[in-house]
Amino acid sequence: MAEKRDRNFAPIERDLIQVEAFLSGELDEAPKCEVLDLELAGTELKEVRRALTQLKRGTYGVCIDCREQIGIERLRVRPLTHLCRHCMHADEVRERAISARLR
Ligand SMILES: [Zn+2]
Repeated sequence: MAEKRDRNFAPIERDLIQVEAFLSGELDEAPKCEVLDLELAGTELKEVRRALTQLKRGTYGVCIDCREQIGIERLRVRPLTHLCRHCMHADEVRERAISARLR
């Protein structure tokens, strides 16, 4: 199963390596990401490096809340996310509840 997961992540890893090179100043032009729909503005180098480390360790794409595997489609749009769709939604609901109370 780990092997299958690695295959899925290979194009993401390729893109992230490009993004890392760009953000660290090794590339002059913004990379054309093949699979990632990643907004380069505001993307932090340390976040990209963290994701690359996780890819090497095989811990990439696991939700920090529920430890479930985050869907590949979600990772393509938000490759640096820490939360699965379900936990992100729960988080947003929590945040909205907090800001409503503060108003
Ligand atoms: Zn989760």
